[in-house]
Order: sequence, then structure tokens, then C-alpha cells
Amino acid sequence: MADIIQLLPDHVANQIAAGEVVQRPASVVKELLENSIDANATDIKLIIKDAGKTLVQVIDDGKGMSVTDARLSFERHATSKIRNAEDLFQLNTKGFRGEALASIAAIAHVELKTKKEEEELGTAIEIEGSKVVSQEVSVTPSGTSVAVKNLFFNIPARRNFLKSDTVELRHITDEFHRVALAHPNISFTFYHNGGELFNLPQENYRQRIVHVFGSKTNERLVPVEESTEVLKIKGFVGKPEFSKKTKSEQFFFVNNRFIKSPYLNHAVKAAFEGLIKDGYHPSYFLNLTVDPKTIDINIHPTKTEIKFDDEHTLYAILRSSIKHSLGQFNIAPVLDFEHQEQLNTPYNYKDKVVKVPQVQVDRGFNPFKDENFKKGSSFTDSFTRKSTESWEGLYVGLESDSNTLKQPFGETAFESDAQTKSIFENDQSVEARNTTFQLQHKYIVSTIKSGMLIIDQNRAHQRILYEGFLKHITIKEATSQQLLFPIELNFTSNERNIISQLKNDLEFTGFDFKDINEEGIIISGIPVGVPESEVSIILEQLISDIENEVPDANFSPTDLLAKSMAKSLAIKNGQTLGNTEQEHLVNSLFACKEPNLSPTNRPTFITWSVDDIEKKFK
Ligand code: ADP
Ligand code: MG
Repeated sequence: MADIIQLLPDHVANQIAAGEVVQRPASVVKELLENSIDANATDIKLIIKDAGKTLVQVIDDGKGMSVTDARLSFERHATSKIRNAEDLFQLNTKGFRGEALASIAAIAHVELKTKKEEEELGTAIEIEGSKVVSQEVSVTPSGTSVAVKNLFFNIPARRNFLKSDTVELRHITDEFHRVALAHPNISFTFYHNGGELFNLPQENYRQRIVHVFGSKTNERLVPVEESTEVLKIKGFVGKPEFSKKTKSEQFFFVNNRFIKSPYLNHAVKAAFEGLIKDGYHPSYFLNLTVDPKTIDINIHPTKTEIKFDDEHTLYAILRSSIKHSLGQFNIAPVLDFEHQEQLNTPYNYKDKVVKVPQVQVDRGFNPFKDENFKKGSSFTDSFTRKSTESWEGLYVGLESDSNTLKQPFGETAFESDAQTKSIFENDQSVEARNTTFQLQHKYIVSTIKSGMLIIDQNRAHQRILYEGFLKHITIKEATSQQLLFPIELNFTSNERNIISQLKNDLEFTGFDFKDINEEGIIISGIPVGVPESEVSIILEQLISDIENEVPDANFSPTDLLAKSMAKSLAIKNGQTLGNTEQEHLVNSLFACKEPNLSPTNRPTFITWSVDDIEKKFK
């Protein structure tokens, strides 16, 4: 039989390799910026068009390349940075694989211009899909410019796979942040479609962080510094009260290289333990310096993962130095004090609802207690006025004694008698005629014709709010409460972009934006029924939801906005509801268009038929 194995032609091999190195325009940005840094540049310009789909260009004032090097730089495994395998263990450069330029040239139109300082003339090379189109002597400044045009022009499937400009630009900005933060001694400018997004002079680390994330960041930073034989730490953590819903301000740099390390992230979280709430993430900007021999960067093609020889020691040092810094800056002790109090509380059901210490906003907001909500013009209002026939039909025994309803339930649902007892304490004021009661501060229980109805209070309220927001956005009718003192919130440029894009829709929920500028956003009006203290949480949640959403064909920002706000504002599990509130919630839920599902398609209630109950007694 004839032999069938063939060596792949270089351009095909390069295309395949490119798949690993270049996932999206942001990958090109990363590789080009890193090459400029490796070339000892002191000033780097990043120019982007159409979120990198049309153009990614990086211009540096680094050491440039000779004619031969310029040509060779596009060969696979061509690198000036390592000579042999041992060099891998003492890397001082970002690159070392010699794959980036070859890969990029395989899937784009690339124009390189480069000149070494000591030479008169430079070189210009054009490559399209690994084919050299032209090579000329060129008059060009010292340094290197690489322009990457029409990314994935020859792989339509990959090109179609790219996300919206907003998403791609966000990835690019993320990469830019990482590189810019790792190198405050280099000046950077970043343009997108002709507009300047960043202009960062050479500065110190603190200034760089503030320049990237906004002037308000300054007062939030707590310095961390530690120097041991195995590890040097230099950087900042954010004060606990400024922790975020998103992980957008978490940066580890190991020997000036951005890395992701869930393990070390855990060490930071451990240092913050008790200081921040679940679901919130501390900000950190930490530079770790270790002996290059003790790390292995080679385990991931895009090199954001790293292996440390002695992770455990690093973990311990990192955690204790951050703890120390937080303590020194008078943050931890105050909070620890309150934290302690919680530990002393005897085991008692009522107090099992976790009280979060420190200066945080009130998450336990109950919109039903708000006068505005009852008087009309609120989100839930439109539902209460509607007929409630649809669900009342389900009811029997409206006059039934609530105790007869509760008794059997209490016995089957609770394992501990002591707990059963204390939960009923809350309901002592309940009148005998009441038809609903709250179970575990989480469910609302009622009877229906066929048996029993159990509503998840949080999901139900999300559904109610969600439909309310959707309605307001769709009919473009907003009820806004104007603020006496506008709220000023600080967001990163990415986050501001997201808010800007949703501005119109947000306004139809009742938000009023006075200004969105480089410093942050100023809000002069908020939806009726939303407490001021919740505003930043709502917006942060929204940003985090949008960032985590992988936009597909069905992606609708309006829907996401309504979902996200409903999630932020819905009454939480663990919140005690009075009887009127419970009934109001049940009424509003069954006045919804789709009462049986939460906005994220989970059941809002379940029913338990008498048959089921009878089976239990067998
Ligand atoms: P690597 O960075 O892993 O060596 P690349 O494909 O990114 O591989 O680059 C290949 C080579 O081209 C580099 O080793 C370097 O010598 C040269 N090079 C790339 N970009 C630049 C630049 N901006 N300035 C000077 N030399 C560069
Ligand atoms: Mg490189």
C-alpha cells in the first residue's frame, strides 16, 4: 500500500499554530506589545481600528531589527531570546517561543517597518498569509512598527467567530491594562478609531494604577511590600469596602509578566477573609519577583499560567503580608471587632442570617416597605392593580386557620425542633386569618385547591421586577426620583463604555445621567423605589453580568438589563416578610405574564398535592 503521511506545507503548519497563539485581536495586541517591551522600548503606541478587526498596529522606539532579522522574525521558531533549552529556566523576556510573528503573518496582512538606531535606513516587509509580498529598504524612524490588518482574512470561520466590537475592544483593553500596569516606566498611548483612549506617561506604579483606573482609585490603595529570600512583593490592594462585584481589578505580575493564578488569588482572598462579602472580589495590583529558575512559564501557549516550585510558601507569605498591610492601615482591626461579635452570638436561628460587618450598603432593602411602592408609580405597582383572579382560583380555605396549615409543615420540614420553634416566633403577630406564611425566611407557603403552594420569595420577586422593568423600557416610560445631591461613581473606561451603551435603556428604567466622563459617571436621578445606597451595586452587578454574558445571536442588552436589575433589587432569601408583604408578593407574582419561571428560567414556585402529602404519611 502506498505511503500516506506527508509533511504539511509551512503555511498550513503556521495556520494551525496560529490557532493556538491568536484567538482574537487582543492576542495580537498582547504579542506585539510584548515584543516591543522585549526590544527595550520606552514609548509604545497602540493603534486599533474596528476593535482590531481592521487594524492592530504597535509602534515602538525599541532596538529595531537588521534586514536579515526582519525577514527571519516571521519564520516559525525564530527567536533572538533563547538559544537552548536551559535558557527556558532563566527567562527575562516576555517572548521566547518565536511563534508570534509567524503565526500572525499566517492569518493576516502584516506590514513591518523597522530600523536599528545605529543604521541609516530601515526595512519594510509586507506579508500576506505567510507569503512575502514585498521587502524594501525604507526610510523609517528607529524602532519597529508592526501593522496587522484584516485578521483571519483567510479563515472566514474564525473571522465570523469574533464577537461584537464592544467585546473585542474590551479584550484588547484588558491586555493593554495588563501590559501598561506591568511597565509603568514605559509610556503608552492607545488609540481606537482615531480617538485617544489612554495616554500614560512614564510614572511610578501608584500613578500608573490611578491613571488607568481613575483618580478616585488613589485613596483606595493600600500598599503591600514584603521582601523575603524566595519572594518579593510590591504593590497595592484595594481597601475592603471598595471590593467589586467583578474581578476586573485583580492583577498578579510575576517578574513583570501578567499571570492568572487561582491559587495565589485564593491567598489574597484568605487575607481579606471576614472583611468582604460573598460574591465580592478584592482589588489587587501585586508584583511578585521570584527567581526565574523557580518558575515554569512554558505550560500554556498564551503564557498567562505559570508553575511555581514552592507554591505553599508563596501562598503563606502573600497572605500574611496582605493581612499585615490591611492591619497596618487600620482597616482590619475595626472590622475584626465586629466580626468577633458575630462569633459570640449563641446558636440561634434568627441570627443565622449573616450580618455583614463594615461600611456596606444595605442589601436587605425591602421595596415593599417603601411608601412609593404602595402609592403607585413603582415597578411592582402595575401588577397589584391587575386582576388576581388567575391565582386566587388556586386557593381554597381562605379563612383557614394559619396554625392548622403550619403545624404539619413545621414538623415535616424541619429537622430540629429548636429551630422550628424560633422560626415561628417571627410570625406571632400573624393573624389567624392569614393565608400565607414564611418558611425559613425564604419561602412563602400557602394552600391551593389541590394542596400546597411554596413560592421562592427571591425568584418570585425577580420575576415581578423583571417584567416591570421590561415594560418600562419597552413603552419608554420612566419614573425617576431626582436626587438632591447627584451620585458620583467611579468606573473604569471599559465599565463606562458599557454604561454608555445602555444609557438609553437605563433611562427608561428611571436612571438619569448627568454626565459620563473620564472621571466617572454622575447620576442625578434614580428609579423610584430604588434606594440611593443600592445604585452602585446595581450598576456593578449589571456590568459584571454583561461582562460574563457571552453575547450570542439572542443577546439582548435590554433583557439583560432588566434581569440584572431584578436580581439586584429583588428581596433576598433570609429576609423576613410581614403578612401583607407576603400577600402582595403572591398577588404580584400571579399577575405576571409568566409567573412560574424566574427571569433565569428557574421555577418560582412548586406545588405539593394532597396526594403527595398522603403518600408521605404511608
Ligand atoms: P519571540 O518574541 O517569542 O521571540 P516573535 O515571533 O514574537 O517571537 O518575534 C520573533 C523575533 O522578532 C523576536 O525574537 C525579536 O528578535 C524580533 N522582534 C519582534 N518584534 C520586535 C520588535 N518590536 N522590536 C525588535 N525586535 C522584534
Ligand atoms: Mg514575541
